[in-house]
Amino acid sequence: MALENVKHWEIGDVRITRIVEVAAYAADIGMLLKDAGPEIFEPYLDWLKPNFVTEDGLMLMQWQAFAVQTPSRTLMIDTCIGNDRKLHFDIFNDMQTSFLEDLQASGIDPLKVDTVCCTHLHYDHVGWNTKLVDGAWMPTFPNARYLFDTTEYQEIRHLEEIGDWHGSHLPDAIDPIMAAGLHEFISAPGYQVCDEIRMEHTPGHTAGHCAIHIESRGERAVITGDLLHHPIQFAIPARHGSFDHDPVKGAQTRQKFVSENADGTIMVIGSHFSDPSAGWIIPDGDAWRFVTERPNAD
Ligand SMILES: [Zn+2]
Repeated sequence: MALENVKHWEIGDVRITRIVEVAAYAADIGMLLKDAGPEIFEPYLDWLKPNFVTEDGLMLMQWQAFAVQTPSRTLMIDTCIGNDRKLHFDIFNDMQTSFLEDLQASGIDPLKVDTVCCTHLHYDHVGWNTKLVDGAWMPTFPNARYLFDTTEYQEIRHLEEIGDWHGSHLPDAIDPIMAAGLHEFISAPGYQVCDEIRMEHTPGHTAGHCAIHIESRGERAVITGDLLHHPIQFAIPARHGSFDHDPVKGAQTRQKFVSENADGTIMVIGSHFSDPSAGWIIPDGDAWRFVTERPNAD
């Protein structure tokens, strides 16, 4: 077990546990923001360094999942990439990580997870839906209901059908769930998963993409999913992101999200943000910045 992969936050009566699968991956910002070089970070380095940008001007990203425990429920929000996969990107091919051991060591029993709720259905958010057992893909959380947004499902199934690699993981990570009858189609926008957890439609990255809001005893947090990938996008939310299926809508969604969650009281957990992964959005001139220390309540 890799202790640094696990982190906990408390939001009222809700406990959020982060399990990192791929930590602190450094890459050129041009991957995310077309034609951008390291100079784009310069105005924001005082809050981007050292957690989110390296000394060499590379962006840091990571891949992680979140277990959420309410007084009565245990949920997984996204399930990362998974072991033993054959995937489009070499770095994620046939991974052998301690993800499942880390999850168990953090106090989450996969058999007690009652709900799997994904921000969207890309390969890096649904991978541990299943695991390879004796050559067959089996549900990792066999006692859970897996919630699939209908719009999201239809889009990614279509991509699979036309041979687009974005859908190539469905036979391994989605179809075995459906074959076992563990799936439930929902209309995610505004869907209340349980008293404390609500899905907000945040389209652009994918058609049915959702952010996950958590609220308990007046405290609030939100898990972004891929409505943004890196904290620099709080400063320049209107700039198009290369990973978005619909970059125009993605930019609109980001601007709306940032302006609605920037009062400094909502903990924002970035699905691809490197450690510490969570912080608060605060106004900064005409735009916003992301701080990893909680701002003063007044
Ligand atoms: Zn992702």
